[in-house]
Amino acid sequence: MTAQYTAVVTGAGSRRGIGRAIGHALAADGWQVAVLDIDEAAAKDAAHEIGNEHNVATIGALCDVTSEASVRTAIGEAEKALAPIGAVVNNAGITSPARFVDVSKAEFDRIFAVNVTGTFLVTQQVTPALIERGFGRIVNISSVSAERGGGVFGGAPYSAAKAAVLGLTRALARELGPDGITVNAVAPGLIETDITAGKLPPERKSQMIAETPVRRPGTPQDVAALVAFLCRNETGYITGATYDINGGSHIH
Ligand code: NAP
Repeated sequence: MTAQYTAVVTGAGSRRGIGRAIGHALAADGWQVAVLDIDEAAAKDAAHEIGNEHNVATIGALCDVTSEASVRTAIGEAEKALAPIGAVVNNAGITSPARFVDVSKAEFDRIFAVNVTGTFLVTQQVTPALIERGFGRIVNISSVSAERGGGVFGGAPYSAAKAAVLGLTRALARELGPDGITVNAVAPGLIETDITAGKLPPERKSQMIAETPVRRPGTPQDVAALVAFLCRNETGYITGATYDINGGSHIH
């Protein structure tokens, strides 16, 4: 089923990021992959790497998920070059550890723009075609911060934005279920990537690992395996769910 479809993964250019690992996992399952990223060279590099490794058709395209025009162009490129779109993984995200009293409106808006508005724009751009086809898989990357109120790296705006992603996921699951489209969220805990830009102090990281039942940070591949599972044909009865993937650091 999935082999005849394309999966769109946003923010998948980052070399050590979760999105690129998701692209690999989906390609290994037979999906064609459209890598969308604000860094065009990185998107093309990831698409090339994924295509070569798994022998599937891929495309890497420039996409700023906060811009309606950019999203329309990038999705248009994917639709032209690859098989019909069957899945979207809204992975592009930014974070900030700023204390609440120091957060400017511009920073708050930027965090919402990428994490929330980006998820809205990309999903809305592909949804009519998914509805027409009667099949779709949408996976939104939230965060444990949404559930526990920060405490990993991101501050209040990031927690609020990732919580908004959960609300969007649940409402869309309800609305799109009758059209054969599932919508789920994944909430990772500490995953080793470059999103913290080296700003997570080593002592804090060691403390977090010591408090994590499995005693290690997660890898992008841990998250990718879960996302690929949620995109499979046989997981069509899972929708509106939030999957924790945090080594047990937050159990609720
Ligand atoms: P990452 O390596 O920084 O990847 C994020 C990607 O999104 C980067 O390639 C980034 O490009 C891209 N991006 C940023 N703004 C964009 C925009 N406007 N349009 C398109 N792409 C944009 O971080 P990651 O850790 O893999 O994060 C992936 C997702 O997981 C994010 O949603 C993040 O919030 C979430 N998450 C991560 C963790 C963790 O511990 N790592 C935990 C929970 C949730 P540039 O690098 O060029 O800015």
